[in-house]
Amino acid sequence: MSDTIPVFDGHNDTLLNLHLSTEADKARLFMEGAPANWHIDLPRARTGGFAGGMFAVFAPSSGDDDPGLTASVLGNDEPLPSPLPMGEARLPTLAMASILFRLERAGALAVCRSAADIRAAMDRDTIAAVFHIEGAEAIDADFVMLDVLHAAGLRSLGPVWSRPNIFGHGVPFRYPSSPDTGPGLTDAGKALVRACNELNILVDLSHINE
Ligand SMILES: [Zn+2]
Repeated sequence: MSDTIPVFDGHNDTLLNLHLSTEADKARLFMEGAPANWHIDLPRARTGGFAGGMFAVFAPSSGDDDPGLTASVLGNDEPLPSPLPMGEARLPTLAMASILFRLERAGALAVCRSAADIRAAMDRDTIAAVFHIEGAEAIDADFVMLDVLHAAGLRSLGPVWSRPNIFGHGVPFRYPSSPDTGPGLTDAGKALVRACNELNILVDLSHINE
């Protein structure tokens, strides 16, 4: 990595790819080399100077076996994808968090909980991973789940993916379109932002409407 500029990247879907993969040993897949259409694996991270980034946990919509495809279907009247019930979001969310911690145990990366952790990981040439959630469907309005996820290391949260949930409304995959496509944060969404501020969880506005 000596000739490359180290990059700290804002978003990757590696945990989703690993979760959807039929490969049993996810850590080995990441460390030895994943399929070419994936964003990141360890060999390519090393080659490209990827020093760290936000590792997104994203619970796919029901019946959606290729969630990435949705974004390529751009119409000018695309509706929002259907809401995802909390019960369907929780296990995938925890499963992807589990993959992140397994990657850490296998030595592939370090889960960072502060800026100091990120700098320390980069100094020892270990990938600095931040636990991020894309769409807060797994989180309840009493923030029971938020407390536990934060204690596990969650430091960045996008309240919505392109779906409505109890916290707000996502922006549909519509083009051309104004981003002003619907109502804003709900009262629960405002409380979520306050709770994130108290816990020092970064709020990511991706997929949220104007
Ligand atoms: Zn993503």
